[in-house]
Amino acid sequence: MLKHSSIAGTRAALLDWRRRGERIALVPTMGNLHAGHLHLVERARQVAQHVAVSIFVNPTQFGPNEDYAAYPRTLEADEARLTEAGVDVLFASTADEMYPGGTEGSARVEVPRLSDILCGAFRPGHFTGVATVVAKLFNIVQPDVAVFGEKDYQQLLVVRRMVLDLAMPIEVLSVPTVREPDGLAMSSRNGYLSAEERRRASLLYQALREAKVRIEGGVRDYASVEAGGLSRLRAAGFRPDYFSVRRANDLAAPAPDDAELVVLAAAWLGSTRLIDNLPVRPA
Ligand code: AMP
Repeated sequence: MLKHSSIAGTRAALLDWRRRGERIALVPTMGNLHAGHLHLVERARQVAQHVAVSIFVNPTQFGPNEDYAAYPRTLEADEARLTEAGVDVLFASTADEMYPGGTEGSARVEVPRLSDILCGAFRPGHFTGVATVVAKLFNIVQPDVAVFGEKDYQQLLVVRRMVLDLAMPIEVLSVPTVREPDGLAMSSRNGYLSAEERRRASLLYQALREAKVRIEGGVRDYASVEAGGLSRLRAAGFRPDYFSVRRANDLAAPAPDDAELVVLAAAWLGSTRLIDNLPVRPA
């Protein structure tokens, strides 16, 4: 695996493949890799001849009181896993390289509306930071295809909308959420949980499962499903930001005849913010 920290080096590494018309896939990550990330790499290998992975903890997607400084950085272990997974190029960058003029006043990509609801309402500016850095990574790598996890469902939709609106010639693929045996969605932030919190954490998944089962069993009163989810989380000691049933393709409030929904939740367990979601097909 070739490893580059510079934009120029990364571009040079990919140039011959691109000139030969060979397909390149990109998997953007913030590192601290787990089995969920490796599923994205596997999917990327299925659809492209060459796979590039980026590791960058992007400062502009963290709020001032969020965990940017504390976010786990495990580059050596990540490199070993990516080499083993057959990745061709690792672009592991720094804030100076990605934001050469600093983050203040830097150009940004905004996907309004979609970025302002759900997680966006609780993390102002987060999805603008995401869209901006993903656009930048797309410009650096110029992949034919990019692979994202459904774990970050709202992020996936923001990226799809950006690609559509800005006519980026990139296919966006998604991979279902990879879970721990008890159902907890794998996440780098799970490492923040105490042993006692970790035992309770899968209740987030269970609450989403219950909502899914209710709706797929015929319940149409989504407000009561949402209220049920919130009270279940609170009873288990979570502090929920939201528990919401939405239309799958744009996260709007569901209409009675929508066939594809998603139930999404974000909740704090101690000082850790967990998110998860499940696809729902009303009966
Ligand atoms: P992150 O490193 O958290 O920015 O995530 C990088 C990519 O991996 C994103 O597309 C995430 O949606 C995806 N991802 C993170 N956790 C999981 C998971 N448990 N299952 C599937 N994809 C995931």
